[in-house]
Amino acid sequence: MSEQIQQRRLRQRLDAYMEQARANEHKLRQFQDMELKLLSSESLPDLCRVLIHDYREAFGLDVVTMVLVESGSQLSDIFETIFNEASLQEQDGPELLKFINIVSDYKNLQELEQLASKPLLGAYDAAQHQQFFVNHGAGLGSVAILPMHRHGRLLGMLCLGSKDTSRYKSHMASDFLQRLALMAGVSIENAVNIEYLRQLSLKDTLTSASNRRYFFQRLQEEISRAQRHSHAVGCLYIDLDHFKRINDQYGHAAGDMALIHVTNIVQHAIRNSDVLARLGGEEFAVVLPDISKYRMGEIAERIRMTVSSQPCLLGSDTSIELSISIGLAFFDMATAIGEPEQLGEVLVNQADQALLYAKENGRDRVCAYEDIQGD
Ligand code: GH3
Ligand code: MG
Ligand code: MG
Repeated sequence: MSEQIQQRRLRQRLDAYMEQARANEHKLRQFQDMELKLLSSESLPDLCRVLIHDYREAFGLDVVTMVLVESGSQLSDIFETIFNEASLQEQDGPELLKFINIVSDYKNLQELEQLASKPLLGAYDAAQHQQFFVNHGAGLGSVAILPMHRHGRLLGMLCLGSKDTSRYKSHMASDFLQRLALMAGVSIENAVNIEYLRQLSLKDTLTSASNRRYFFQRLQEEISRAQRHSHAVGCLYIDLDHFKRINDQYGHAAGDMALIHVTNIVQHAIRNSDVLARLGGEEFAVVLPDISKYRMGEIAERIRMTVSSQPCLLGSDTSIELSISIGLAFFDMATAIGEPEQLGEVLVNQADQALLYAKENGRDRVCAYEDIQGD
């Protein structure tokens, strides 16, 4: 072989190495950018957005999903609460949720644990991989399923899918992906913990209903959303009747149980997007966005009837008969004009006046502010 040919081949090989090195450097930089984005995410939804949306765009993938392992039903509650908030409902919250799957079923968990010992790269196989892509598996050619562990516990999997059958192959190196999964795991654990504490600070410790602070914050948000969409917003003000007597007769601990009992009844009767809060003592309020006056009356009446017909059980042989009074107020946002903060105060105040009327007129009843005008 002539020296010239040898030199040419050498150069070609060198060029190929250089090309490979440049491609690797580019990939490394993209991964580093993504890691920075993960670490600087400001909230749990923000983090979900980076993983599900930004990652998919930056790496030209067709779908990215997250499978998360439930821990004591906390995770579902945390996601449900935050994704129900008005700001996210109006942004991309519902869209993001389609790519998040929280697994709590024991059988699925066991399967997941078995699969999660190492990253899984290769051709898409619907029978095996469908569960990781929820409803987004159709048309995928290859996938990378990356387990995310923290302190020896499986947090979940980050699932990357491409229509390109050669994008992920079983023999491929997965160092970058493993590192990304590690960073994603740390970031998710952190964001979930912060969100958990935020939600805890907005809850009443006895009943787990929301607290006053959260109620007025959400009320304002719901009113401004209703103003934008010309929805209606309703408010129920609920107060236990003669609660002092309950405490006197059965003791304070039994009174506490009665408060929890009523909270559970109300929570069952309303939608996930409604907000139930304990405003103080034995007083509760509910904000019901996007609801009709008629439907609201029905809900209030059902709550009242359930409380009066289902005594609170204290052990096997004692039960407490309870009743509640409810004041109801309603704004049609097509006609209500004003700042959300003021409108919120007016709405609660009207519900409170209706409650007072219910108390003065015999208790164990529902009164609407509208119906007491002129009395
Ligand atoms: P009404 O039908 O007019 O509402 O009468 P009431 O007795 O329910 O109202 P009142 O305001 O006179 O008494 C409320 C009672 O609620 C007094 C207070 O001891 C009790 N209470 C407030 N907070 C708690 C609590 O956290 N636990 C218990 N067990 N009782 C509470
Ligand atoms: Mg009371
Ligand atoms: Mg009261």
